Amino acid sequence: MTAPFRMPVPSADATPALVDPFGRRVTYLRLSVTDRCDLRCVYCMSDDMTFLPKRDLLTLEELDRVCRAFIDKGIRKIRITGGEPLVRRDVMGLFRSLSRHLEAGSLSELTLTTNGTLLGRYAAELASCGVRRINVSLDTLDPDRFRQITRRGDLGVVLAGIDAAQRAGLSVKINAVALKGVNEHEIAPMLEWAHGRGMDMTLIEVMPMGDIEPDRLQQFLPLSVVRERLDERYTLVDTQEHTGGPARYVRVAETGGRLGFITPLTHNFCESCNRVRLTCTGQLYMCLGQEDAGDLRAAMRGSEGDARLSDAIDEAISRKPRGHDFIIERSAGRAAVPRHMSVTGG
Ligand code: SAM
Ligand code: SF4
Repeated sequence: MTAPFRMPVPSADATPALVDPFGRRVTYLRLSVTDRCDLRCVYCMSDDMTFLPKRDLLTLEELDRVCRAFIDKGIRKIRITGGEPLVRRDVMGLFRSLSRHLEAGSLSELTLTTNGTLLGRYAAELASCGVRRINVSLDTLDPDRFRQITRRGDLGVVLAGIDAAQRAGLSVKINAVALKGVNEHEIAPMLEWAHGRGMDMTLIEVMPMGDIEPDRLQQFLPLSVVRERLDERYTLVDTQEHTGGPARYVRVAETGGRLGFITPLTHNFCESCNRVRLTCTGQLYMCLGQEDAGDLRAAMRGSEGDARLSDAIDEAISRKPRGHDFIIERSAGRAAVPRHMSVTGG
């Protein structure tokens, strides 16, 4: 049995800060705990993926250690992602361990992005570790289309996982990738379904990452087009809510729910970027759209103390670029960034 989560006590000491060369405070770490997944979404992976050998992955102890180092430097929000984070063996051990920072008040949010297939098993335990909100990626409510998009998934299992998450008291946000000719006609019904169940929804544009077939220009559906169509049907009220990320939010007057648009290709969001991404092999990417990374695994494995790790984090943050360079037309449908999204964790 997991001990019940205790409410955090505010931290009394001076707040540390990680500040990049452009004066942006980095407070948000996205941590990929595996490159593996039980699905093969067409925009994310190829059908015959080769996954990393286990020895290349950070161990659970190393993941915990690197999180502590980041929290000591002022990271306040950690999102666990992947691949599919819940397929990592004993990932709940990591959540249990990280929950101590929530209890201490040094971390304000611990969350995850998941495809939902294992929520039926883990939702209650996630809640008991202090997780309050999760993102579930779901692009369709049609079982056949779900199987086509994910190449192997069972929609019923994911819907049961969402039920389990809501029963456990987790607030769920649905993330849907808008795919031309695939799910574009489902966006309005999905919006009503999500808002009807008290879940926010965010739409994501396909990003040119990883060398996967089919041609990305065929999948690309600009969210400006989606928004125009939704505008004809609903009253979308702009909100000032920003998360420091690429999402812009509206409130849908008819449903009362929130709808986000993540438009990395058509909208520049870099000026307010507050995040960095760590891969499951310990590479710290300062920008989703750039190749530069710092090697935190080498820093951790090269020394038992944390001084080298701390220096490696500072050094990497000092190289955080001003912004990204995704241009799907210019990359002619090929990957602008050769990493798969499952490597950096989206
Ligand atoms: N497996 C988990 C999931 O699907 O939620 C977490 C990892 S997944 C890489 C994180 C998010 O990235 C998902 O919402 C997924 O839809 C999105 N994603 C993956 N590849 C993408 C791409 N090429 N363009 C835009 N979004 C992508
Ligand atoms: Fe797996 Fe998530 Fe990528 Fe789909 S988007 S293949 S669920 S990692």
